[in-house]
Amino acid sequence: MIVMKFGGTSVGDGERIRRVAEIVAERATGEVLVVVSAMEGVTDALIRAARAAAGQQGDLLHRLISQLSLRHEQAAREVAPQGETDLLLGKIRALIQEFRHLCSAIQILGELTPRGLDAVASLGERLSVRLLAASIRSLGLPACPIEATELIVTDSSHGTASPLMDLTRERTRKTLLPLLEKGAIPVVTGFIGATKEGAITTLGRGGSDFTAAILGSCLDADEVWIWTDVDGVMTADPRVVPEAHTLPELSYAEAAELSYFGGKVIHPKTILPAVEKNIPIRIKNTFNPDGPSTLIVARPRAEAPLIKTITSIKGLSLITVEGRGMLGVPGIAAKLFSAVAHQGISVLMISQSSSEQNICFVIREEETKRALHALKEAFSPELSSRNVDRIWAERGVAIVAAVGQGIKTVPGIAGKLFGALGKAGINVISIAQGSSEYNISLVVRQEEVDRAVRAVHQEFFPGG
Ligand code: ADP
Ligand code: ASP
Ligand code: MG
Repeated sequence: MIVMKFGGTSVGDGERIRRVAEIVAERATGEVLVVVSAMEGVTDALIRAARAAAGQQGDLLHRLISQLSLRHEQAAREVAPQGETDLLLGKIRALIQEFRHLCSAIQILGELTPRGLDAVASLGERLSVRLLAASIRSLGLPACPIEATELIVTDSSHGTASPLMDLTRERTRKTLLPLLEKGAIPVVTGFIGATKEGAITTLGRGGSDFTAAILGSCLDADEVWIWTDVDGVMTADPRVVPEAHTLPELSYAEAAELSYFGGKVIHPKTILPAVEKNIPIRIKNTFNPDGPSTLIVARPRAEAPLIKTITSIKGLSLITVEGRGMLGVPGIAAKLFSAVAHQGISVLMISQSSSEQNICFVIREEETKRALHALKEAFSPELSSRNVDRIWAERGVAIVAAVGQGIKTVPGIAGKLFGALGKAGINVISIAQGSSEYNISLVVRQEEVDRAVRAVHQEFFPGG
């Protein structure tokens, strides 16, 4: 049994949806479950519409609704099986109507709750499953659209919900196994789930990869295939480094690290369900289906290069807590991180200088104000006694990370990394080595990050 997930670009318009249907048809030799994202850009547009509704920006809201409606109706006309266009259009229009109603409710309330936002954001996948299932049916295969709200039971953390795996497994098997046994191809919404009470939730941006892994785990799939718009996982983001090349194999640990440090090609939470069941994940290109691809497994066989990929994360701030009085005082770090954690702010990287005179850590830039406020409050006694001199933020920074299991065992990698950045004249603001030893990450100014990635890539992969 194979789970195949298709991302937003892969289903960006009617023609692309038809191409995806062909890929499914060609490869559907055994049992196949399809997971699909919203059409490219649709989730962003839905979120913008919900915000426009809350902000009483009626004109923008109407423009967004009519654009989304037009785009989905046009795709429906292009993919519907013969004689079924009106039926499909009816379903699309009903969902657009639901979207309109949700937005007017938000507009009347003048407030957008996380729950309301999830109800709107989920519509992209609820629309795209209908289109893709219709397109597969038009090739003569028995595909049926299914909303993951019936399968994936989550907690109520709207926007970043986590699955309750036991319940999810039970529901998924009960609903999908009979369909698969009959030879049907279920086409399931990525990205979404529902609480036990039935409120729609979302799993986090880019979360359709996670959906595929959750369902793969529940069904004990043989493999999970993530179809995207590049030839698998590459030595760097090909948008930043055009000469980046495909990695044939990667370990789960490396893939987790790569996605955590900005490799958008796979959502960070995807790995865990796969590791637990030892399910291989393949990353393939919808636009080059027979081209190179990546296999993610527990232990790659291939002779591994030291460094596998160079990644980056933009839009960050570096917060520093500094003071000569911090030297040897126990509990400063504990106080610092609990103040930040209390705000629900996640810390991407930490480093402490050996003199113990400062601790710095990296967070998302939009959380800077909240973090500074919480820290100044927590350290107000130390600030008065001058044990802590200064708490400040450097905005507009980015992390560059080199990921690979070679980092663990081979000396000199850090030297090579800094050498490359030095030669390129890029200033390194801070450094950390993850405790997993699968990566070295460092902080640079955001304006320099793409150049930094290219310089490090050139150093480790001189032939491109
Ligand atoms: P999808 O919509 O299919 O989920 P995403 O946009 O989420 O696709 O992820 C694919 C994108 O990830 C690629 O277009 C590429 O720009 C980016 N990317 C970042 N790092 C890497 C990497 N190391 N290898 C391949 N792609 C990467
Ligand atoms: N459509 C969702 C998003 O844009 C989920 C996904 O594409 O994986 O975040
Ligand atoms: Mg994605």
